Amino acid sequence: MLLFCLQIEMAGLTLVELLAVIAILGIILAIAIPSISNIVESSRKDVCAENRLMVSKNYRDYLAIEDKTSSTIIFKEFVQLRYDEVRCPNDGIYQLVGEEIDCSKHGNHDGGSGEVPIL
Ligand SMILES: [Zn+2]
Repeated sequence: MLLFCLQIEMAGLTLVELLAVIAILGIILAIAIPSISNIVESSRKDVCAENRLMVSKNYRDYLAIEDKTSSTIIFKEFVQLRYDEVRCPNDGIYQLVGEEIDCSKHGNHDGGSGEVPIL
């Protein structure tokens, strides 16, 4: 009886079946990993754009309330005082460029860095 059970268990998968399963899992992972990493990077760009938008609106309010004129020094002071914890997810540095807030990693557009997307 024990010998019969061992023979049934040993006949579970052949080597070809096991290699086929491993190959299919490899194909699925090869497709899924770049897609997931693109989703993560896109989410980080969106978070950065939203953070810059929030900092920009509050910076304008700060200038109006404090009756100050916009400059890079005033902006650095504002960010250090009020937005030290709001940062780019990719550790970019927010800077005032003209009237807009620029991220050193993502630029100042809606999450784009001026790169042409690959279709
Ligand atoms: Zn950024």
